[in-house]
Formats: sequence, structure tokens, C-alpha cells
Amino acid sequence: MIYLDHAATAPVPRAVADAMYQVLTEQYGNPSSQYPFGSEMKKRAESWRQAVAALLDCPADRLFFTSCGTEGDNWALRAAVWQNRHVGNHIVTTAVEHSAVLECCKWLEREGCEVTCLAPDQDGGISAEQVLEAVRPDTAAVSVMLVNNELGTVFPVADIARGLAARNPKTLLHTDAVQGLGTFSAKALGADFVTVSAHKIGGPKGAGALYIGPRVKNPRPLLAGGGQERGLRAGTEATAQIAGFAKAAELRLENRARDRARLESLHAYAREELLNIPDMVPVGAGTAPHILSVSLAGWPSQNIVNDLGAQGVCVSAGSACHQGKPSHVIAALKLPKRVAAGVIRLSFGPGTTEAEVDACVQALRRHHDSRMPML
Ligand code: PLP
Repeated sequence: MIYLDHAATAPVPRAVADAMYQVLTEQYGNPSSQYPFGSEMKKRAESWRQAVAALLDCPADRLFFTSCGTEGDNWALRAAVWQNRHVGNHIVTTAVEHSAVLECCKWLEREGCEVTCLAPDQDGGISAEQVLEAVRPDTAAVSVMLVNNELGTVFPVADIARGLAARNPKTLLHTDAVQGLGTFSAKALGADFVTVSAHKIGGPKGAGALYIGPRVKNPRPLLAGGGQERGLRAGTEATAQIAGFAKAAELRLENRARDRARLESLHAYAREELLNIPDMVPVGAGTAPHILSVSLAGWPSQNIVNDLGAQGVCVSAGSACHQGKPSHVIAALKLPKRVAAGVIRLSFGPGTTEAEVDACVQALRRHHDSRMPML
């Protein structure tokens, strides 16, 4: 099988699985237990927090483990709106956020918030100025993702943070950095909330983290209970998941420069090879080196994904989270119908090879040559 869908989820390296196995079978104590077997786990959990915090470049005591990126997004938005309930109930976000943000915004709208949803340009870009112009005196929260999961577009979160300080210093900034984990420094970004998820970097599914910055004085707890995560997110720590997350973070940090260079050259190679296929056109102007969005204009993407899948090649028709429904991200680009219908996303990991890209290109050529366009 050729797996080119790392933005959906990444394979777990052996070292990560081993770290988890050890915790499951040998170090299974509850970090809240009073005897040494438990308190030892508490110490280990803090060392895992430090490992993940090192990848984000943030203080460990400001990082809270969650069960996934979706949870972090929901928690951050609700905490920001709650903290700023005296400022107002206006939220600014973008039309290309992950549904974890957009659906949470819809809920907040039902609860009385007003949401401004910014449209991207045809390349998928949104400028800092566009975001700042939408901010009002009653804007409680701004939520702009760092890297778009379908297009690989990188948004100017640090510029937004700087601009907010002048435009409305009370507004809290959240960024969904799930697709950017390992490429940024939370300190340099300047956002008040940063969401990340383990399974996009080779950690297990079911683990994530939320950075909550110092401007959020008394963060609204997500779960009340036994006081875990400094009383903000109760529930017995998912120690094996967290151990796996920490190991994946260590590996990412260790190999960061090498992986980035490899991915950049692979991205350039794949783009060139794909665009040599007749009727293939680029989609968006994403610069994240692990995500590449293109369209076989006129050939419906769901058919492409099914046919390539049958040929043993895994790519995505937009975000895997949309499960066959047309993607709101692609819709927001307002592309010609033929182009919008044929969008596929290839996404790479540190181990992806040019030979795998070649096999995908061949499968796409076979698809192009054996089917008539439907649009
Ligand atoms: N945000 C973005 C940008 C994503 O790509 C994803 C997952 O695809 C999520 C949030 C949700 O993360 P999780 O699957 O950990 O809930």
C-alpha cells in the first residue's frame, strides 16, 4: 500500500508503539495514586509534558493534555468567550477552519455569540489585515488556524497576534495548529490558545494538547472532577497515549531540520510530476511542505479516491473528516465547477519517498486515461 494521506493521520513509528506498550504493561500506575508506583507515574507524566512542550516551544506548565485536537479547539473557543464575556460576544474566524472550530462556533452562535466568518481569496489565503479589520471593540475571540489541512496554506498568526495588541488588546487569539505541529514556536506565535494533536506527527490517536498562554488568567475548566491537569481537565491521565505523544514529539524535534528539507524537496517533485498529468491543475497556494492539493479538472474526486484506493494508493478528496460530503474549504475558494469537483489532497510524512509519489502519479494517469470526464 502507498500511503499519501499523512494529514488525515500518520503511521506510528515503532519507538512510539514501544513506549506506549511499556506504559500499558509495566508502568500502568495511576498518577494520582499515593504509593511510589503512582507518584512515579506523576513524575513521568510531567516529563512527557515537557517533551511535548519542547516541540511547541512553550512552558510545560501552560500545556494541558486533551483527548484530541477537536477537544482542544472546543475548549479554547469556549474558554476565550467565557473569559471575555464582559468584553462582548463577537467571534472572528475563517471559512476554511476545521469543522472542530466551525461547528463549535455554530454552537456558540446558538448560545448567543455573533460569528464573523472570513472568506479566503481564490488561493486560500487570508491576510492579517483582513482579520484585524473584522475585529471590533466587542470581539471576545479570534480563531485562525496555522496551517490549513486541505490546502497547506499557512496563515499569518504571529502578525494577527501583533496587530490585535493595537486593535483590541482584550481579544483572545486561538490558533488550531494541528497541521503545523513541529513547525512553530508558541512563544513566537503569540497566540493565547494553541491546539495540537498527537496523531498527525506519529503519535497515537486520542491524544492532544492545548497551550493556554499567560493572558488567560483563570482558564475555564473543561471537565470538573478529580483535579487532574491542574484542575482544568479532570479525568485519569491517558498515560500510554501521552507517553506515545511525547515520544513522537521527541522524534519530530530531533529530526526537524532534516525532515523539513526532505519534505520540501518531495513537495516540489510531486507538484511537478502531478502537474504534468493532462487536465491536472494546482489548487490554492499552500506552502506547508507536507500538503499538496491539486485537481484533475472534470474527474470527480470521490471516483479518483475510490479508484486509486483500489490500486493500493491512499489519497484524500479534501479532509478525511468530511466523509464524502463536499468540502467547505474547497467551496470557499469559489473555483470553477470542474476544478472544484476534482480536488484531491496528497499529504506526506518524513518517510514518504519519490517512488511512492511516482506510483501515485501512474495511478492517476491510468484513472485519467481510462475514464471519461463527467463534468
Ligand atoms: N484541526 C485540524 C486542522 C485538523 O486537520 C484536524 C484533524 O484532521 C483536527 C483539527 C482534529 O484533530 P483530531 O483528529 O485530533 O480531533
